[in-house]
Amino acid sequence: MVDIVIKHGTVVTMDPSRRVIADGALAIEGDSIVAVGKTQDIAASHSAALTIDATDRLVIPGLIDGHNHPFQYLSKGIGDDVDIMTWLYRRVYPFEAAVSAEEAYIGALGNFAQMIRSGTTCFNDPGGYHADSLAQAALDIGMRGIVNRSTRDLADDDVPIPEKHFEDTDTALARSEALIDRWHGAADGRLRAWTSLRYIPNCSDDLCRRVKDLADRHGVGIHTHVAAVFGENELITKKFGKRSLERYHDLGLFGPNLYCVHMGYPNEREVGWLKQHDVKVAHCPSASMHGSYGVIHNRMMPAMAEAGITISLGTDSATAGRFLDMVRVMYLAACAHKDAYVDPLKMGAHKALEMATIDGARACLWDDQIGSIEVGKKADIVLVDMTGLHWAPTIDPVNTLVYAANGTDVETVIINGRVIMRDRTLLTVDLASLRRDIDAAAKAIWRRSDLSLAPRWPAA
Ligand SMILES: [Zn+2]
Repeated sequence: MVDIVIKHGTVVTMDPSRRVIADGALAIEGDSIVAVGKTQDIAASHSAALTIDATDRLVIPGLIDGHNHPFQYLSKGIGDDVDIMTWLYRRVYPFEAAVSAEEAYIGALGNFAQMIRSGTTCFNDPGGYHADSLAQAALDIGMRGIVNRSTRDLADDDVPIPEKHFEDTDTALARSEALIDRWHGAADGRLRAWTSLRYIPNCSDDLCRRVKDLADRHGVGIHTHVAAVFGENELITKKFGKRSLERYHDLGLFGPNLYCVHMGYPNEREVGWLKQHDVKVAHCPSASMHGSYGVIHNRMMPAMAEAGITISLGTDSATAGRFLDMVRVMYLAACAHKDAYVDPLKMGAHKALEMATIDGARACLWDDQIGSIEVGKKADIVLVDMTGLHWAPTIDPVNTLVYAANGTDVETVIINGRVIMRDRTLLTVDLASLRRDIDAAAKAIWRRSDLSLAPRWPAA
């Protein structure tokens, strides 16, 4: 007797041989997968408290959003159609400074609810504030993820920090370590906590070195925005005398737990260092395209993939990329580089699904437990409805998922063995009241943060 059997599905395992099992099944006991195979074998040998018929459903590992700021959820729309440095330093950071702990909780609940509805089961937060509110929201809704806390101990007129978020180095490190102590391994292992160097211009050499030491002592990752956008290498060279990745390299940060986000602007020498040290990368094509970072334009992401560097996919945030649907993000990762290179073999659907599952798990230092449907792994499972017109006919289900579907096809979501969404109904949160709370909280923060926001076209 097991807890759940899913049968008659098309199971995309993402195991090392990338088996796709027709009329496949899997069994879940507690938080783990205990059997995977053909329906005739699994159903015959396992009776279950809950049986889910997955006929005409694609069964995939839960999608991993490798870079997402839950703390930015309420700031949707405040940075549309502006350059990245204005967006970040003149709009998002002042907005963040106006968010209360209660509002952060509401925003995070909305963030996770929206993610789950399009098949995301795990997030990796680069660090904002009120991290305890984010962790509590993940705990309550049943999400898996990594929480984090920004550290920033340098600022000037080029790269200003709101006064309440500027910390001396000792304080920043002490608060980061306290967050790890509170949340790393919490919720039966569903939550983890990492360290953050929020953005390289605001991090002193001393902070960088000591964050590396902190991360190594606790066996956690260092999540950082670096080599991210057009013009950054020039800014960092002006301030520190060397390029962004060269600076991290020379400070001794390179290693398997360094997790670098956006990464539009490494050069070939730096790509060699990344590979040599097994540094991980997160790619957020929707954020780059929405914010004109230049990541697609500079064409280094496929070069890193071809060098064998582990790359995850991320949405960045509801304000940066503007949507949290990883199926749409997979489409962009699969297709944008084909156009940039004028080469249909760049990236593609299968690579994109790897980045959103098993590669994302490895990038998040979690591939021993998540990222594929294999016996012994945690039961993070997504059922995708294949009955829509856009699925007929399907030759390769991975191609159809990435090139033709979107997150609204996701029907049922299981996280850590628990059914969180069934037939598109979220079971752990009341969406209607949450939507009202989100709207009210966001508008209250707009007023407090004194942002002048108006639609481009006049209201008639
Ligand atoms: Zn980010």
